[in-house]
Amino acid sequence: MAHELTLIPGDGIGPEITAVTVDVIKHAGADINWEVVEAGMAALEKYHDPLPQNVIDSIARNKVALKGPLTTPVGKGFRSINVALRKEFELYVNQRPAKTFTGIKSIYFDHIDIIIFRENLEEFYSGIEHYIDSSKTAAETIGIITKRGSERIIRYAFEHARNFDRKKITLVHKANILKFTGGLFLDVGREIAKEYPDIEFSDKIVDNMAMQMVMNPYQFDVVVTTNLFGDILSDLASGLVGGLGLAPGANIGDGIGIFEAVHGSAPDIAGQNVANPCAVILAAVMMLEYIGEKDAARRIEKAVANVIARGTDVTRDINIHSTVGTKEMGAAIIKELDSIE
Ligand code: NAD
Repeated sequence: MAHELTLIPGDGIGPEITAVTVDVIKHAGADINWEVVEAGMAALEKYHDPLPQNVIDSIARNKVALKGPLTTPVGKGFRSINVALRKEFELYVNQRPAKTFTGIKSIYFDHIDIIIFRENLEEFYSGIEHYIDSSKTAAETIGIITKRGSERIIRYAFEHARNFDRKKITLVHKANILKFTGGLFLDVGREIAKEYPDIEFSDKIVDNMAMQMVMNPYQFDVVVTTNLFGDILSDLASGLVGGLGLAPGANIGDGIGIFEAVHGSAPDIAGQNVANPCAVILAAVMMLEYIGEKDAARRIEKAVANVIARGTDVTRDINIHSTVGTKEMGAAIIKELDSIE
């Protein structure tokens, strides 16, 4: 039976790269009926709201969405669409893989394969902040970490490790200084780890973690951490494998997931057929795994890897001399799919 999924083409390069992605998914054999809805600038122009109710209703109904990047309108009064979606659907997991692709220039050329699970709702991203005095010489941000919030992200990371045959989890914190918030997160992690004796568990203080990731990233497999540290470390991890151009991400809650590229709407190159479609294609790979279309996911990931490794049908962000565009790279990935069992 066909999967009913929500598609938000997005702004800027979004429509170009999601169109290619939809074609790639179709050729991989996954049976999907897309419900296409508009958010961002397109929705603002039509409905005077960057996140109209029909988008929320569609995601609530279908439970899974593939989202192109959205331009955040400049000016007061507009909520961040991404933050609004996370809150609306309690998407407490932010999952960001960082994987080496042969053919991508980066500091490390060997096999890096790290998945970072970042808590997505609590701590310094709750928006509880203000100036303490009227002359604005001091400010305060309150970061609340709860046992429930910690349990569900840490458990999600352990379950993922078990289901995807990962061996190790590193919990990252700053419990030596943030004795209560960091301490709570660490204590919860140690308790949950006892339920998963098949998975090696250790913890690292965030500053040491940052250094270790640069010095020896190969020691890491699955990483779980709080919101702010996860934000920073997941970009660091992307940097280890060649930047954001190939970085997919997922925001996941209980029974609901929104999948997208990490990069934005790139207005500087929109409509020129030069954007790299791979980050959103790899986000679709995560989405296909999530909905159980594991074979299509595996084949698409391999096709992307093969095309990048060959280096002839890649966009100019991968090879500066390339004249290959978004559509042509998509076509090369589709052709490659035919040779993958
Ligand atoms: P950006 O990621 O859109 O662009 C940064 C640079 O990377 C630009 O030079 C761009 O051309 C390049 N780039 C990005 N994606 C590319 C691709 N697929 N192929 C080739 N080059 C690519 O970041 P920005 O310029 O800071 O943001 C633009 C808009 O996107 C803003 O309105 C921002 O709020 C929004 N944004 C949205 C999301 C999201 O929806 N998840 C994420 C980040 C930024």
